[in-house]
Amino acid sequence: MSADDPLLLSESKEVQERFSEMIDETLSAVFESFSDDSAFSGIDPYELREKVNSLGFLPEKGKGFEAVLEDVKRDILPHLLRTWSTKYMPHLHSPVLTETICSELIISCFNDSMDSWDQGPAATELEESMVHGLVRLFGFPEETSDGCFTSGGSQSNISAIIAARDWFCTERFGWDVKMNGLPPEYSKLRIYTSEISHFSMDKASHILGMGYAAVRKIPVDDRCRIDVDAFGRMLEEDVAAGLIPFCAVATFGTTDFGSIDDAKGMRELCDRYGMHLHADAAYGSGLIMSERYRERISAIALCDSLTVDFHKMFLLPISCSAIIVRDRELLKCFELHADYLNREEDEEDGYINLVGKSMQTTRRFDALKVYMAFQTRGSEGFGRIIDTAVGNASYFYGRISEDPAFIAPVEPEMSSVVFALEGGDDLNKRVRRQLLSEGTVIGQTVKDGRVMLKFTLLNPNLGPSQIDGIIARIKEIGAGLS
Ligand SMILES: *Cc1c(COP(=O)(O)O)cnc(C)c1O
Repeated sequence: MSADDPLLLSESKEVQERFSEMIDETLSAVFESFSDDSAFSGIDPYELREKVNSLGFLPEKGKGFEAVLEDVKRDILPHLLRTWSTKYMPHLHSPVLTETICSELIISCFNDSMDSWDQGPAATELEESMVHGLVRLFGFPEETSDGCFTSGGSQSNISAIIAARDWFCTERFGWDVKMNGLPPEYSKLRIYTSEISHFSMDKASHILGMGYAAVRKIPVDDRCRIDVDAFGRMLEEDVAAGLIPFCAVATFGTTDFGSIDDAKGMRELCDRYGMHLHADAAYGSGLIMSERYRERISAIALCDSLTVDFHKMFLLPISCSAIIVRDRELLKCFELHADYLNREEDEEDGYINLVGKSMQTTRRFDALKVYMAFQTRGSEGFGRIIDTAVGNASYFYGRISEDPAFIAPVEPEMSSVVFALEGGDDLNKRVRRQLLSEGTVIGQTVKDGRVMLKFTLLNPNLGPSQIDGIIARIKEIGAGLS
């Protein structure tokens, strides 16, 4: 059989027919791997490990496509997490819009790469066009701004912090980090972000050679937003102690609570101290599509750089993210010319090489997914998706905040709700495990030292009746366990 499987796509009709057949069989295998609306089979991890380990690694003779698909269909597909299920709500991990699965097929068929124009001509041009659209959408100045797609929010965040560091060291010390490495003052540099911001900030600080200690965690208020007065006091104290603040990060949609920092207040402080202000809107950027809620993230336009994740609220397949900067010079920190790849003479003739704006070299044509989804749905269609997610969170919060069986400490600004059943940490942990074994997957986190449960509501197919059903089931399990 394996002899029949085409090695590569080509202009051959025979190859194209066989490949279409493979795609049809693959889709059938996906559809036949589940039969209900649960998110997960509920299989025990040890049993699953045994199944997977018995699949083998590298046989001497290839089995051919159908036999492999059969194995995958039997042992893998039924136990994958089904992100489209309305019973899946633990993380900022989304189901995907159907048209973007088709985009993924196109992306893989061609396998163009974003590093140089000659590796992806239309891909390069479309990414540039989408970046310029994003600049306008988020209210950045068109004449000076620029951006680039990345592998995710973590990479967008670290890219922004690298850019901020290089800019700051030139500005403050006349020091060229790209050429000379780190300046003598380096150990004094500090980043400011909320105590509940995403851990990619700490990772970035470590990777940049500053360590976790350089990330100053600002306390949050009772709605989980940065306490701007406390930020001001910290800056004053740190500067008095000889430290050098260079960058702050405002989170638009914290990972657990969906809270939105006061970037306007932070902007004033950043201006006073000559700091870069980054907007981590990996989660909250989706609100831009909603007429009703857009205002909540309007202060993004005051920031120097922005992280947008399309694989969260925008419901696009992993991975898909972008970094946008107010001053295109900032991305020059990634520019480097190689004779074999991105010759300067080509760029002068209009052959843009996007590798000059990116941490990555070989890079996927993810911009196609954004293009196809935006064109398919329009801002209206996306607006409905976002409004449903935010509306569901308000509905859920309303229900549990009036029910004495629950506590829900923070009113949602986006689509996440953190809550707990009265009855203690252990009870809440056991409720989550029980739900998992039933195929309903919810989140768990900690607030003020207390174990909490979490709904992250991204799925636009979810509605009040399903939410009511899950509330009832949680109470039932809780009553059974206590
Ligand atoms: C998810 C998230 C990130 C990280 O994004 P990835 O795409 O998972 O790398 C960063 N910041 C916030 C606020 C997030 O929610």
